[in-house]
Amino acid sequence: MTERERKRRALAKKRKRQRQIRQRLTIGIIIIAVFLIIVISVSARQRKKKEESIQPAAAAASSETPAALQPEAAALSTSAQAAEEQTTEAAAAQQQTAEQPAQQPAAEAAQETGGLRAADYPVDRSTFAVQPGVPCGNNHMTEEKVVYLTLDDGPSYLTPAFLDVLDRYNVKCTFFVTAQDPEYFYLIKEAYDRGHTIGLHSYSHDYATIYTSPEAFFADLDAIGQVVAEQIGYVPAFIRFPGGSCNQVSRDYCEGIMTYLTSAVQERGYQYFDWNCSSGDGAVVDDVNALIAAATSVDYWENIVLLSHDCGGKETTLEALPSIIEYYLSNGYEFRPITRDAFTSHQEIFN
Ligand SMILES: [Zn+2]
Repeated sequence: MTERERKRRALAKKRKRQRQIRQRLTIGIIIIAVFLIIVISVSARQRKKKEESIQPAAAAASSETPAALQPEAAALSTSAQAAEEQTTEAAAAQQQTAEQPAQQPAAEAAQETGGLRAADYPVDRSTFAVQPGVPCGNNHMTEEKVVYLTLDDGPSYLTPAFLDVLDRYNVKCTFFVTAQDPEYFYLIKEAYDRGHTIGLHSYSHDYATIYTSPEAFFADLDAIGQVVAEQIGYVPAFIRFPGGSCNQVSRDYCEGIMTYLTSAVQERGYQYFDWNCSSGDGAVVDDVNALIAAATSVDYWENIVLLSHDCGGKETTLEALPSIIEYYLSNGYEFRPITRDAFTSHQEIFN
């Protein structure tokens, strides 16, 4: 082999080695590039998925929540980290919206109730406070067909549900309240703000306490009056005796007390309201149809003062209420809250 031939072979060998190195480098770069592409695309996909899971909640919040809650929804769509927590908040906001049927458009509510919805009845509440010397209540029926729905013994955990049913039909009624569940006192104001009348029933609702003497009765009445005044700003003139003025229990504690009290409350500026129709829910009732039948049994009268209860355990009353309201509305009755000129429906006194 000549010197020249040896050099040529060495050069060829060198070039071959360099080619191999270049090839390996190219393969290495391709592998790294492919790896990077996979990593980037996977992380991009994960980010997209996360964003998609937040957006529906944010969209729901912005379309169904009041304006004041919308900034919260906007923050929700930009912050991925607090996604889970804020989705819960958006759900709570939606729930809160659902619990405010007063803001529900009238057309929507009318659709829900098959078109049955009470007409607005203008009420001037500036005269509702107890005022000695100012007469209150009408002892005679008028010719208008009116139902004064009254709900006694609340507020309770059921009161919000009662308020929602009443709102759905735009029906205003009267709550004769007690102090049995102080944790729900705020619902007195809630009911008042939603257009219902607040009347005084009893602080303790304990016959053996309140009917032992006139002093005991007025101490109890003053106590519930203060509870109501704290909520709505004044002591209302409207009251309902526990058991009604016709109750026969009070004479066991103080004979003749109802005769005395029925005039004494009026001398102090109050008016007591009894009833001429009862849904019968004072007892434990399992049969909703029985409640509806009883509550609609005296439709031969023009003015009906209907006794029902919104205290704990009256789930069947709540269930019966839509049918009772629908019955009266479709029979031409108007629902009214008690006002200064409302029908008192005084009953016979038995002591
Ligand atoms: Zn009662």
